[in-house]
Amino acid sequence: MSAEIQCPAGCGPMDYKTNRNLKIRAFDPLGTVFYLAGLILIANSIEVGSGETNPGVIIGALLFIPGVYLSSLVTTDLSCNTCTGVILESKSIDQKLKGDLLGLSENKAEYIRTALSSSTEDSEHDCPDCEKKMIHISVPLEGEVRHRSNHLVPDIVDDIQNLTATVSRTIDLDGCKECDLLWFDKAKKEEVLSKDGTIIRKT
Ligand SMILES: [Zn+2]
Ligand SMILES: [Zn+2]
Repeated sequence: MSAEIQCPAGCGPMDYKTNRNLKIRAFDPLGTVFYLAGLILIANSIEVGSGETNPGVIIGALLFIPGVYLSSLVTTDLSCNTCTGVILESKSIDQKLKGDLLGLSENKAEYIRTALSSSTEDSEHDCPDCEKKMIHISVPLEGEVRHRSNHLVPDIVDDIQNLTATVSRTIDLDGCKECDLLWFDKAKKEEVLSKDGTIIRKT
């Protein structure tokens, strides 16, 4: 991608922002050694422990915490300070939008890439990279709108078709298949879609 990416909504240049996700999803060899060593040390120390605080627990924690930190998922995404839109590039799509570890839920990245190639609905915005029209898709999400998630995402309540009994909700986004990037016009949409608990409805 070129050095400066313009916001597709026309706000001007976008900034790279680094997000750290404290769920351990990225594999970092050093971090993994650290937190595993820390865990083992804590486990052993607690077994032998006799009421007093075993120094092994403290040392274990001192290894565990930076280990988790090193292993946490770090992504650098483009975001617009004006409209709060977010662009996910290829690497972030793979990291943030994969299925769960057991493979029980749909792989979101795969779903979205397939949807982008089969959708014929043009986005109202151009791809910030190749400047061709992006494709617009709606991603159907599974299950009820929980109060918890409602509360977290007041901004997108408008986008959620909240019917009383059968609740269906979709997240709409634009993307460019050639450049492998996704455009979310609100950062909250990207957050909701990236959450592990968010599952794409099977059609
Ligand atoms: Zn913008
Ligand atoms: Zn493009």
